[in-house]
Parts: sequence; C-alpha cells; structure tokens
Amino acid sequence: MNKQALRICILGGGFSGLYTALRLSQFPWTDGHSPEIILIDQNDHFLFTPLLYELITGEMQSWEIAPYFEELLTNTRIRFHQGCVTAINIETKHIELDNLHSLSYDKLVLAMGGKAPLEQVLGSNNYGISFRSLQDVYHIKERLRLLEVAQAKKIRIAVVGGGCSGVELACKLADHLGKIGRIRLVERGKKIVSNSPEFNFKAVQDALEKRKVWIDLETEVSEITRDSLSLCYKGRIDTIPVDLVIFTVGTQMLDWIKDLPLKHSEQGLITVNPELQVIDHPEIYALGDLADCKDATGQQIPRTAQTAFQQSDYCAWNLWASITRRPLLPFRYQVLGELLVLGINNATFNGLGIELDGPLAYLTRRLIYLYRLPTFKHQLSVGLSWMIRPLVEALSD
Ligand SMILES: Cc1cc2nc3c(=O)[nH]c(=O)nc-3n(C[C@H](O)[C@H](O)[C@H](O)COP(=O)(O)OP(=O)(O)OC[C@H]3O[C@@H](n4cnc5c(N)ncnc54)[C@H](O)[C@@H]3O)c2cc1C
Repeated sequence: MNKQALRICILGGGFSGLYTALRLSQFPWTDGHSPEIILIDQNDHFLFTPLLYELITGEMQSWEIAPYFEELLTNTRIRFHQGCVTAINIETKHIELDNLHSLSYDKLVLAMGGKAPLEQVLGSNNYGISFRSLQDVYHIKERLRLLEVAQAKKIRIAVVGGGCSGVELACKLADHLGKIGRIRLVERGKKIVSNSPEFNFKAVQDALEKRKVWIDLETEVSEITRDSLSLCYKGRIDTIPVDLVIFTVGTQMLDWIKDLPLKHSEQGLITVNPELQVIDHPEIYALGDLADCKDATGQQIPRTAQTAFQQSDYCAWNLWASITRRPLLPFRYQVLGELLVLGINNATFNGLGIELDGPLAYLTRRLIYLYRLPTFKHQLSVGLSWMIRPLVEALSD
C-alpha cells in the first residue's frame, strides 16, 4: 500500500511564506520523504513591498513587483491554492478557507504578516488609505488622476507616520507631483525615522527639505473627513483642508491570529523558539511579521522583509531537517543595514561598513532588490525590462 505523502501547508505567500516554499522545494527529497507542499494566499500575486513606491511614480510596473504565484511556481513541486484562511483548528490540524474549502496538514507554516492599523483614527476607515497593497496603490493613483483631471491648482497630501515608509512615500509623491504637490508628513514622536542611523537620518532630512515636505512632529491625527484632517499638537486641535490622507503607521496583528490557542506576546504576536517553531507545537512554524522571535544569540528580531527573507531559509531547512531526521538550526539574524529610497533617482544606504547616498545608492538599491526578487526567471525578466525600457523611451521621444 502507498504511504500518503506528508502535507506541508504554508499560509501566506509573502516574504516569509513564498521564499520558504521556494527553498523547501529545492531540497533533495528522497522518495520516501517527499512531501506535498501547498502554498495558500488570499491574493493571486506576491508583493515585493520595498518597491511599492515605484508604482506611484511609474518607475516600475506592477508585473515587476507583483508577479503571479502561478508563474513563479511553474516547474516547482509547490501547489498554489488561492483563498483566505479564516480559521485553524490546531487540535485536528485543519485549515478553514473562505471559499468553503478545508485542508488538513501535517506541518504548518504561519506566514500571513499583518494588517494596517487604520481603525484607530475617527474617519480613517472611510477616508484614509493605507499603503501596503497593489489595491492601495491603484486607489491612490485613481484619486491623483481625478484631482489632475479636475485641474486642481494644488494637491494636498498628508502622509501619516514618519518612519521609513512614510518618508520614502513623501519623497516619491513630492517628485511625482512636482510644483502642484503639497506634502505633509505627520509624526507622533519627536523625530522622524527615529531608529535610523545618523547618516540616513541626515539624508532623509535633506531630501524632505529639498522637496519642501512639511513635517509635523509630536502630532497625532484625531479625525479625517472627506476633505479635512484634524491634527492634535500638545492638546490643541487644528483642522486643515486635505485631498488625500495616506497611512504608513506600522503593522497590526490579524484578529483571528490573536485568538489562536498558541503562545502570544503582549502585542499578540506568535511566540517562537529560535528554530522558529511555535512553543509547544513543534509541527507549526511561524515567521515574518506575525512572529515574536529571539534568535540564537537572544536578540529580539525586528519585523522587516530583511528578517522574513532570512528566516525563510532557516524555516525551510528546519522543515526539511525535521522530516529527514537531521538536526534543526537556530535562526541567526544578520543585520545587513538600512536602505531608503528618497525620491526619483535618490536613495541612502548605511550598512556593512558602507555609507552611500544619491544616485549611486539608488542604483545599488535597485541591484540588491533585483537579486532579492523571487526566482531567477523573474529576476531575468525584470532585469531585461529595466535595461530595455530607457532605450524604448529614448526611441519613442
Ligand atoms: C510599503 C512598504 C514598504 C516596505 N519596505 C521595506 C523595506 O524596504 N525593507 C524591509 O526590510 N521591510 C520593508 N517593509 C516591511 C515588509 O514588507 C514586511 O516586514 C514583510 O513583508 C513581512 O513579510 P511576511 O511574509 O511576514 O508578510 P507579508 O509579506 O505581508 O506576506 C503576508 C502574505 O499573507 C497573505 N495573507 C494575509 N492574510 C491571509 C489570510 N487570512 N489568508 C491567506 N493569505 C493571507 C497576504 O496576502 C500576503 O501575501 C515594507 C512594508 C511596506 C508595507
């Protein structure tokens, strides 16, 4: 009688889930061990979030940063299933999907990231836009198009959140809109990009100043309406006209993940050991934005694409090792530095003992991200497209 293949379900096809699946499928599986690998995502495409800004400016196209899973997984042993996971029964090892499918698993990878915490501000669900998905970009571009069609003399945009994502978006919007853009960056803390190294902080300050981005520090958004924004500074509320409010204020846990009967941190993240296994459930791995992880040296790991990318290697190895009876490896995080894009053809990089800014940093960023794109085939198509496009544009001028 044929023994049924062990089933690994990977929930979420982002930086942690997709890259784990791709790595896992490359291991030398012997016939007796060869598992069924199923990747599940609510969307039909992966999203390379660090390049999302380039869609606003038109520097890149959506197929480049959001390739379809079906294309990425061609000729691999990974099966893709599109659906939104709504519940997991840890006892019976079953996953429930919104399209009424239910799937059983032997090993499970939780890699569903998080969501934008929009509910916290009055009116933000109706009038605020988050900046995390292709739909968000299309929404923003459509609103900008309508304002341009209406021949608005000024386009007033508030970017809420002065972290890396907020400053990157503010610079790109300023470059994209040029003279008609009035960009305002609203930050609750005393400093923008407060965790960035001094070199990057200075580059950010210069870039924002050059683009005349107005910065509100120690300021909170208290309400948004169709055309106004109320800001609270030291207890005083000011209401100003605005055309668009975009939120870049971090990541919140998905509600139903918080309710899973697994060990959670105070913020609701799933606690894992350095091998990325959920506490008391060695058959479940959790990584990326939804995991609370300390690595082999005991350092608390930040929740970034850089982390998710590095964890996916370990998660894939540990899944393979657990099935083929080899020792598991504890995750070791490597700080590779910080790379920020600050407008068109401008960026800053600080890491590995190198400090770079301007067009050279911009080019370095592009090359690093090209290398980070999933699958060699996709890297090749995007690389060719980047080389050919300037030629085509020059010829059509
Ligand atoms: C605009 C932007 C720019 C960023 N830039 C950088 C950067 O420059 N450098 C950096 O290190 N980090 C950056 N980040 C952070 C980085 O994107 C995240 O840390 C990283 O994506 C986390 O990976 P993940 O796999 O945990 O989650 P994600 O990449 O978010 O993937 C989660 C996946 O799960 C799917 N999913 C969610 N819920 C369900 C469900 N219920 N059912 C099925 N599928 C589901 C989603 O569709 C998604 O595909 C940026 C984030 C944003 C939003």
